[in-house]
Amino acid sequence: MTVKHDRTSGFYNQSLETMSVSQRAEYLDAALRKIVAHAYENAPAIRSKFDQNGVRPQDIKSVRDLERLPITHKHELAALQEKDPPFGGFLGLPRNRLKRICMSPGPIYEPEPIENNNDRWTQAFFAAGFRKGDVGQITFSYHLVPPAFWFEDALHALGCIAIPGGVGNTELQARMMHDLKVTGYVGTPSFLATIAQKARELGYDPRKDLDLEVGFVSGEMLPESLRSELEDTFGMVVRQGYGTADVGCLAYECYHKDGMHIPYNCIVEIVDPDTGKQLGPGETGAVVATVFDKVYPMIRFGTGDLSYITDEPCACGRTNPRIVKILGRLDQVTKVKGMFIHPGNADDVAARFEEIERYQVVVDRRGHVDEMTFVVELKPGVEPSDALRQRIEAAIPQAMRVRGKVRFVSPGTLPEDLKKIDDRRTWE
Ligand SMILES: [Zn+2]
Repeated sequence: MTVKHDRTSGFYNQSLETMSVSQRAEYLDAALRKIVAHAYENAPAIRSKFDQNGVRPQDIKSVRDLERLPITHKHELAALQEKDPPFGGFLGLPRNRLKRICMSPGPIYEPEPIENNNDRWTQAFFAAGFRKGDVGQITFSYHLVPPAFWFEDALHALGCIAIPGGVGNTELQARMMHDLKVTGYVGTPSFLATIAQKARELGYDPRKDLDLEVGFVSGEMLPESLRSELEDTFGMVVRQGYGTADVGCLAYECYHKDGMHIPYNCIVEIVDPDTGKQLGPGETGAVVATVFDKVYPMIRFGTGDLSYITDEPCACGRTNPRIVKILGRLDQVTKVKGMFIHPGNADDVAARFEEIERYQVVVDRRGHVDEMTFVVELKPGVEPSDALRQRIEAAIPQAMRVRGKVRFVSPGTLPEDLKKIDDRRTWE
């Protein structure tokens, strides 16, 4: 029996991960002022963003001041790069300081510097449970796109060995995992499930014959049911991270998997998608990132994802606020009574009640007032009751921050291909 690492506690950088609210604000404001000065000086796209809006670099003193700048949306990047190739004016360092250029669909080119001070993915890997001496098998693509390289850098920074598995080759991947005594998996959760199946076909018992203890997954949604299936199958801890090819890591889970901590060295704003104004904890809005990487200094980059943040304490001791979960894409959002709601919020309501079989949120207008109705089909054998109605109606504002009524309908009423949020309002 080998001595196992403690993968459940500790910090990658304790002093920066446990800052008080005021220390964190001070830290981020100082880093913001620095990157703004650098970006304005070196990246023409950032300079024109400031100039066109009549904002001077010295006007941006704190995170709150970012509201004065427009958001650069992900979907604009390809066009900006085409106009001013290859980096759209966002390159913040001379080209001879680059070590790698990747390409994401768009096409969008992403520069990486020789000296990389960006340890955000390393924080994520430590929090997931990776420790010095781990052997990590990376099953993301090693062609064109950046994640596999980022994750290799993170493994190396923690003193781990990286196995460049790449995509596919499931049988080889399962063999390597066995032969090389791989302790860490890096890839999508669904591919890990595929490897489990292949391992069994090869005659391995995934729990006994493989050495996996920790997994870092990303790139797709991680349903809790799949997480626990993988954890049981391999006897491992599976944690996830969130980021984009343009800005890198924006959030990661710790052992307590109660939302995803925002790395100490970047700014994530949740904003009103219409006005760009910052929203408070618990309010659903667009995820906007500002990163401190001199090579590609994105300032107010709109990821197109929708989420909300909590600043409640986490059992791990990290004080970094957490993205509670990614609800989905911005284009699925609906505004009701001034609040943004998303199918993911509605799923949160339904998930609290075993009795609910299917549901649909109907948004309508009575006079000039929005009305939201949660139309519910109950599981076979469950009778609609006033008590259940009241319990669901109490849960709706907790998950969606908007009040709504519940209407029970008989099984088979809701269409098969239903839109989770059916907006029936007209605006004549
Ligand atoms: Zn935590």
